[in-house]
Amino acid sequence: MTAAELALAGVPVTVLERHPRHPGHSRGFNLNPYSLEVLDRRGIAGRFLAEGPTVPHMMFAGPRLLLDLTAMAAGHRHVLGIAQVRVEELLAEWAAELGVRITRGHEVTGLEQDADGVTVTARTPEGERRIRAGYVAGCDGSRSAVRKLAGIGFPGTPATRYTILADAEPMVEGDLSPGVTTGPGGAVLVIPRPGYVRIVVKDPAPPEERDEPVTAEYFQAALDQTLGRHVPLGPPRWLSRFGDAARLADRFVAGRVVLAGDAAHIHPPAGALGVNVALADAVNLGWKLAATVQGHAPAGLLASYHTERHAAGAAVLRYTQAQALLGGDDERLAPLRELVTELTALAPVNRYLAEAVTGVGTRYAMPPAPGQAADPGGEDHPWLGRLAPDLKLTGPDGAATGLAALLRAGRGVLVDCAGGAFAAEAAGLRGRVDVLSARCVDDPGLAGLLVRPDGHTAWVSTRRDPRPAATLRHALTMWFGSPEGKISACETPCR
Ligand SMILES: Cc1cc2nc3c(=O)[nH]c(=O)nc-3n(C[C@H](O)[C@H](O)[C@H](O)COP(=O)(O)OP(=O)(O)OC[C@H]3O[C@@H](n4cnc5c(N)ncnc54)[C@H](O)[C@@H]3O)c2cc1C
Repeated sequence: MTAAELALAGVPVTVLERHPRHPGHSRGFNLNPYSLEVLDRRGIAGRFLAEGPTVPHMMFAGPRLLLDLTAMAAGHRHVLGIAQVRVEELLAEWAAELGVRITRGHEVTGLEQDADGVTVTARTPEGERRIRAGYVAGCDGSRSAVRKLAGIGFPGTPATRYTILADAEPMVEGDLSPGVTTGPGGAVLVIPRPGYVRIVVKDPAPPEERDEPVTAEYFQAALDQTLGRHVPLGPPRWLSRFGDAARLADRFVAGRVVLAGDAAHIHPPAGALGVNVALADAVNLGWKLAATVQGHAPAGLLASYHTERHAAGAAVLRYTQAQALLGGDDERLAPLRELVTELTALAPVNRYLAEAVTGVGTRYAMPPAPGQAADPGGEDHPWLGRLAPDLKLTGPDGAATGLAALLRAGRGVLVDCAGGAFAAEAAGLRGRVDVLSARCVDDPGLAGLLVRPDGHTAWVSTRRDPRPAATLRHALTMWFGSPEGKISACETPCR
């Protein structure tokens, strides 16, 4: 996703992937509403939605408590069931269409940065290769070599609880039903997948060395011990162990190195958020890094990636740790579980939690223009800092369009509903901000709206709470730079 976002902005990108081919198994199985919204704003949500069913709710702190997603402020009020391997394949296809080169069998082992660029060393089947680039994005997972080589700290809490999983041939009918089955040793979660089942059980005796492989015999013994009876496991396709560690990189940007996804944060798998948070990082990072590479980024633009996504990552750690505690088997937390269940039945609480855990509620701070109070008219506009809704708009020629479609090019979008009063402000920013004079069908009171390439609202003016053009000028300069800053090709193409 990061590579595709960069390519969309015209930056040449090479992806180095250590595996010669995809290992085939999927850790995750879902895309949540924020991811679908983001993919919609690139015109590719349909490719993903064609792959699986959608459900209008999601688990919170385990399968007993469901959050209703239908009241959220989002176009996609559902979770899509889709294997992570398919998400990766579809994103790779899109990236390839945009010209991204994916180089497999290249494991990053070294990284040195200097004033002009970064030199990466990769182990390849043909021997060691050195690759020079302007910037490096470490999207290389929880044990990120890039993070370690760049000397970026990864503080947090180590795993205290381990879980093992088996993807195996379907069980014999009646052996174990889908969902949670509780035995004397605890709970077993069975998730039916097309052609196989995923079985998840607490690791009864995690080894000192967590990389020690889980064997079929070990998994069978743990399953039987938990259930208090023998349930034969079909031939496994994939066995794995995962923990509840929670860590957040102390810098998402270190000179010419940036981190995204699990490389930047790990958290308990509660809530099934990891793939989704990684996509949210990528869409926040891509346009900022592209503007930096092309030399027209305003001061502090790349640093804002750290500010915005580090805070979002910290929130994800909180939400997943809270869910892991509530969903665990500590009986002392039973009253708290009951209380949370009662609270979640209240519509505003349900909506707050649904928007918080799916990322739909993510609100980035949009600093006001100098001398302008943050909220002169009272409350900030509810869209400010959040994903702008996919508003229906009518252009000067009467043609109807949606805001999401205007964002497909990955540029900023200024919608002028004030007869041209605002459009002139973006005159020098061609190639960075697309301008549309329009009427907003969904909200006739809208006077003007500036949306960043990641879909988040940077500035909004309404007829009830009009903002002077100077505040728009400030927002344009803050996110898109000055008109003098030129768009140029990457000066240090990968080679
Ligand atoms: C059991 C389990 C279930 C999960 N379920 C869900 C779920 O339902 N929904 C969800 O959203 N998330 C889920 N997650 C989390 C999710 O899988 C991760 O958050 C997600 O994969 C992170 O994506 P990423 O691209 O940052 O890292 P990864 O998916 O780990 O990708 C990193 C890539 O970098 C490559 N790489 C690593 N080191 C190097 C190197 N030195 N050189 C070159 N390449 C390298 C790797 O081979 C890999 O392809 C689950 C996790 C687990 C463990």
